[in-house]
Amino acid sequence: MLTSYHNHSTWSDGTASIREMALAARDAGITEFGISDHLVLAPNDVVAENARLWSMEPNRLADYVQEALEVKDELETREFRFRIGVEADYFDETIGDLKAKLVAYPLDYVIGACHYSGDFPIDHSAELWEPLDTQARHQVWEVYLRKLLGLCAAGCFDFVAHLDLPKKFGEFLPAALAPLMEEVLRAVAKTGLSIEINTAGWDKPCQECYPSEALLRRAVELNIPLLVNADAHATSQTRRHFPEAYSILKSLGVKQVCEFIKRQRQMIPVP
Ligand SMILES: [Zn+2]
Ligand SMILES: [Zn+2]
Repeated sequence: MLTSYHNHSTWSDGTASIREMALAARDAGITEFGISDHLVLAPNDVVAENARLWSMEPNRLADYVQEALEVKDELETREFRFRIGVEADYFDETIGDLKAKLVAYPLDYVIGACHYSGDFPIDHSAELWEPLDTQARHQVWEVYLRKLLGLCAAGCFDFVAHLDLPKKFGEFLPAALAPLMEEVLRAVAKTGLSIEINTAGWDKPCQECYPSEALLRRAVELNIPLLVNADAHATSQTRRHFPEAYSILKSLGVKQVCEFIKRQRQMIPVP
């Protein structure tokens, strides 16, 4: 079984339809494919305006799930499983609304993500980082990590997306914030969340997976379940950098990864 759960379509910032992404994944040898377009319930107009550029209209969630169900009906077989998820942004201000919204749909999993540090869109562009001095960059990281603590406590997600996302453009975790990152990992472990190895990072300026190998090692020590995801936004990306990710899992002695069915986690052997 080769899974990949974190993938996007034209419902958010992907370049192909759900069906096209599923077919490409199947052709690439993925045996359990999940679609997880972006859902952002913004806490204010600044975030809402930015999120409109890359996430689905929140009131179209029902249509998105409907289309995913149709693709599932058409393509699912014993050999190829299709899962339905969303990548939902966590905000303290809107978490109640998000929970209320999500329960209405037959989702297999909900990915918890933080793409904003305050109103700052962390992974939007390198240019937005350029004017920030050391202190401001530290602040982006710190606010982000504190927000992850809220995400863990929310009890609304199945796994955490790209845990160290602020490194995307090359601003790596400041050493002074290592204890706070440790606190986040402990919160992930305590609340029963899983962490993905997001292979998209290898194609970004940071040139490594999310999270880093050092953080993955710590996650394994804390018995946090892992899974490998391509975060594909195009049909050519459905299995990107999987050999590198599985070689890290092997070097860490990980024998099992997660699968999710109707919001229940099961452990399956590493392929
Ligand atoms: Zn994301
Ligand atoms: Zn994503």
